Amino acid sequence: MGHLRMGPKIRGVLKGSAPPTGGCGANRAAFQTLKNNGGRSIVGKKYVYMFSEGNKDMRELLGGKGANLAEMTKAGMPVPQGFTVSTEACTQYYNDGRQINDDIQQQIYDGLAKMEEICGKKFADPSNPLLVSVRSGARASMPGMMDTILNLGLNDTVVEGFAKFTNNPRFAYDSYRRFIQMFSDVVMELPKPEFEKIIDQVKEEKGVKQDIELTAEDMQELVRRFKAFYREKKGEDFPSDPKVQLMEAVKAVFRSWDNPRANVYRRMNEIPYDWGTAVNVQQMVFGNSGESSGTGVAFTRNPATGEKALFGEYLINAQGEDVVAGVRTPSPISHLKEDMPEVYNQFAEIADRLEKHYKDMQDMEFTIESGKLYMLQTRNGKRTAAAALKVAVDLVDEGMIDEREAVLRVEPKQLDALLHPQFDAAALKAAKVIGKGLAASPGAACGKVVFSAEDAKEWADRGEKVVLVRRETSPEDIEGMVVAQGILTVRGGMTSHAAVVARGMGTCCVSGCGEIEVDYDAKFFTLGGMTIKEGDYISIDGSTGNIYGQAIPTVEASISGDFGRFMEWADKARKLEVYTNADTPRDAKQGRSFGAQGIGLCRTEHMFFEGERIKAMREMIVADNTEDRKKGLAKILPYQQSDFEGIYEAMEGCPVIIRFLDPPLHEFLPTKEEDIKEIAGEMGISVEKLHAVIESLHEFNPMMGHRGCRLCVSYPEIAEMQTTAVINAAINVTKKGQYKISPNIMIPLVGEEKELKFVKDVVVATADKLIKESGIDMKYEVGTMIEIPRAALTADEIAKEAEFFSFGTNDLTQMTFGFSRDDAGKFLNYYYENKIYESDPFAHLDQKGVGKLVEMAVKLGRQTRPDIHLGICGEHGGDPTSVEFCHRVGLNYVSCSPFRVPIARLAAAQAAIKYPR
Ligand code: PEP
Ligand code: MG
Repeated sequence: MGHLRMGPKIRGVLKGSAPPTGGCGANRAAFQTLKNNGGRSIVGKKYVYMFSEGNKDMRELLGGKGANLAEMTKAGMPVPQGFTVSTEACTQYYNDGRQINDDIQQQIYDGLAKMEEICGKKFADPSNPLLVSVRSGARASMPGMMDTILNLGLNDTVVEGFAKFTNNPRFAYDSYRRFIQMFSDVVMELPKPEFEKIIDQVKEEKGVKQDIELTAEDMQELVRRFKAFYREKKGEDFPSDPKVQLMEAVKAVFRSWDNPRANVYRRMNEIPYDWGTAVNVQQMVFGNSGESSGTGVAFTRNPATGEKALFGEYLINAQGEDVVAGVRTPSPISHLKEDMPEVYNQFAEIADRLEKHYKDMQDMEFTIESGKLYMLQTRNGKRTAAAALKVAVDLVDEGMIDEREAVLRVEPKQLDALLHPQFDAAALKAAKVIGKGLAASPGAACGKVVFSAEDAKEWADRGEKVVLVRRETSPEDIEGMVVAQGILTVRGGMTSHAAVVARGMGTCCVSGCGEIEVDYDAKFFTLGGMTIKEGDYISIDGSTGNIYGQAIPTVEASISGDFGRFMEWADKARKLEVYTNADTPRDAKQGRSFGAQGIGLCRTEHMFFEGERIKAMREMIVADNTEDRKKGLAKILPYQQSDFEGIYEAMEGCPVIIRFLDPPLHEFLPTKEEDIKEIAGEMGISVEKLHAVIESLHEFNPMMGHRGCRLCVSYPEIAEMQTTAVINAAINVTKKGQYKISPNIMIPLVGEEKELKFVKDVVVATADKLIKESGIDMKYEVGTMIEIPRAALTADEIAKEAEFFSFGTNDLTQMTFGFSRDDAGKFLNYYYENKIYESDPFAHLDQKGVGKLVEMAVKLGRQTRPDIHLGICGEHGGDPTSVEFCHRVGLNYVSCSPFRVPIARLAAAQAAIKYPR
């Protein structure tokens, strides 16, 4: 039997049921430049804030990091002082053509002067130099996506003084070489690996293996070589004026807001481009100044499980980047208790205070300089979905927040991670663990091994499931990490880049499995005596850290325990009902188990493809008279009817909205010559006849062609058959006595009241007759989809006939934008790159344009029929920002694919809490 190629309508529909990945919320329309007072700088406007001037509520202006540094300063915590250059300065930088204007430069220098006073040290003063870090800090945290420069303020003279002042030349020159390396990479875009090569050369010449074994003289040698390399590449000397260094570094951080990885991250996390980043200039404290110094990252609760206990890692004699980059494997924070008990106690006390203050789990960075603790940052910690639920529920039980606040604490999209499969327990028992890493981000993943982000993307694009195996990941790997089922790294702890990013995405990750020997060139790795090549299957468990050298089947998740309790709170808060899109009893049951209150869209065409059905369908299509067409339809009828019975029963009497046939008929016919021959034979017609039918169904633009209700206008017998199937199924199930079914029939692609009336008349005549004959009392409704702009514009007239509306925002989006949902993927990337569109309008509802049509139709529909039931069943029905919009415009329900039902329930609850109606 030849394989039927699905047409774009059907393919689009099936494809559409998967949750969209990329995309960015906000639904902002086209914009070319960042917004800030029409692009002009305001004289006298304040762009620079000392830490002592801000507070936690100023994150829009100061970014998250800046606002929290200010808040900690206010609370008297040990924070190295400095200032924040505001997000508005960033937008001004872009509006000024990527320049920092004189006014802002002056404010930065003034900030520096105040900082010198506060710190009692002077910038560029060799006798006791003030060194600073320059770090990004957007409103929403974007870990590792933007740039940071440490140890700024050093040059050949200052470093000498610094060496004397600290009485530690090795440390001074180590700081200097780190600065040259970072500044060259981040600000001047000289590739980091080149510097690593120079370090390797020096290590080889000195016969040492670790950086730590290099002496002060070696560090001086590194400085010399770095600077020579810089001169060679840049044709000029490394900038020695600290003020120039500072301004260039601030510019680089602003610039990094627009780097490719930040753009990818923003799109993924729905962070608007026009927010911009703030820049924090902070006094350096040195975790790398000896054995009584160190640096670390810690959470007030476990970010993977939510368990209440200080959780984190630190490295002695290291700078912050060493922990996050995962180059050295750090020690757990609990060891600090033994290493430096006083520092540990002080840190634990601060952590506790911060959590109580913010009433949420905190993620903190700290540095210990010669035994003294400094807090470098605190923020609400990123966490896995399981941890987010546990923390939210625990905070309620601890009396810190109420149930409604708890509902706001979990990102709807995160729930996805809990709804997806775990390893099948029996298969897992039989599987052999070949190694173990850190359980960095939970869930189960199984896929073919790839060793680079590029390969991950390429393989995933062709439909392969992959596990990305890396020594460590860096922000450049983001695109590969997004598409991977799971991520496995050789190096790095729980706060390494791979771990943090994977948790944010809800992707399973096992990190820091040091036993893995990986060969990128030959594309294989060895572990536990096994050699695993590119393309071999492995499975990883992000909840245990276990690694298996084989494929392990997975099983579905369920909603219970904390999850169940939390969802009850969400359900209490929401106003929108949540339905599911389901075409089969299986999908219906799945949706129901995730809490769907009905089916908002049952696409009947999906039932026509299996086995004998497609044959009957084709028989109907090739018929050239009504009688033959009815014969074909009569064969389809029993299949449809029994499917509907199954669906009604699966939904246990909840509302079910059945949509009539929608795609153009040619999608049911073959396209390849060999299939045409085979199918003509099976149907007992000539190849010429089948060709002629295919030819006659050809359309230049099938999405705007003979489809939807237009099919029933041409062939009312289709509506008769489908009505018969819907009503008879309802009668049969009702007669069984358990459920009383009230069918809902939905007519697609209506653009004109009379068109709807024409089809509705056929439906009503057929249904009334059947109900009368059955002798039972059955109510039913006939409604329509609003998916053509004209339907939205004339919704008052359409509502005279339609008893309900369901916004088909897939079609409504394609028809409003005038681009096809199947083709837009080819060019939309250019639109994102050029900042014309910020997100995929098929994933996030375009509130400005399409949304305006929805709002208008809501108003017009209710004007005619005040109690009209209004919902949405396009893909947007499961997208949190679009659900919020649906709540705000007053829809009654949203409908989405089964796996997105809990996401929609939570999004609806959050919308109701934020926008009471
Ligand atoms: C829609 O257009 O939004 C819709 C739900 O219908 P389909 O995706 O089947 O065209
Ligand atoms: Mg549609």
